[in-house]
Amino acid sequence: MLKLIRKDPITVLQSEELLQIPGILHGFCTRVGGVSGGPYASLNVSPREGDPPDRVRENWQRIAAAFGIPSEQFFVVNQVHGERFLVIEDAVSCHGLEDRRYDAIVTDRPGVAIGIKTADCAPVLLSDRRNKAIAAVHAGWRGTALGIAGKAVRVMAEKFGTRPEDLSAAVGPSVGPCCYEVDGPVFQAMSERGDTDRVLRPGLREGRWMFDLPLANRIQLEQEGVDPERISASGFCTRCRPELFFSHRRDGAKTGRHLNFILLSRGK
Ligand SMILES: [Zn+2]
Repeated sequence: MLKLIRKDPITVLQSEELLQIPGILHGFCTRVGGVSGGPYASLNVSPREGDPPDRVRENWQRIAAAFGIPSEQFFVVNQVHGERFLVIEDAVSCHGLEDRRYDAIVTDRPGVAIGIKTADCAPVLLSDRRNKAIAAVHAGWRGTALGIAGKAVRVMAEKFGTRPEDLSAAVGPSVGPCCYEVDGPVFQAMSERGDTDRVLRPGLREGRWMFDLPLANRIQLEQEGVDPERISASGFCTRCRPELFFSHRRDGAKTGRHLNFILLSRGK
């Protein structure tokens, strides 16, 4: 279960499951509490869609202040709807990266708040309770069809010795099955994974389906051995809740992005 929590001036969603883990900070930011205006109102963290950079910077500062995390500790990538993972293993690999085309970040390094920006796609955060490693994953339909959430479990196992039973996970707010109408290519891509029965139901129009993106990601985590009881989901649809969330489906290309992040704090 994710719950809405006010951290003045911003409002975030947090997972009770992740909140219980010592040394972990995380948040799924809503659009509430920033300084951006118009279609970017108000807590937009991306300057790429036309919002003035100084406002975006102030929004980042507000998030950093709300969590007591220095803003330079936040780290995001240029998401491209692929399945590439950035593994941050030391301070060197974290900085000076020219090519940041990744859709997931994993690290066991304290003090790096790894973040994913979303406006309908599903953000997935993972924490290995035993080995102190974390992951942040960007899962739109393409990433989901590529199995990116399941891959996160395998990458963490390979890099940090993570066992699926030690993972806690949270699937943040995304466009829900109420609003996510998809066409043939999505149906085809998900069919190849064999997941269609549970995650796609016929839409109102011929050749269209309603896609349950958060459930598709939950299923991938469960298939990799993550305990279903340790996976929480938001239950919010970004398209249905304009007062809380940006939505590309609802508002088109000119809209903001939320930040979703997780951090291993230092000294724990
Ligand atoms: Zn909806």
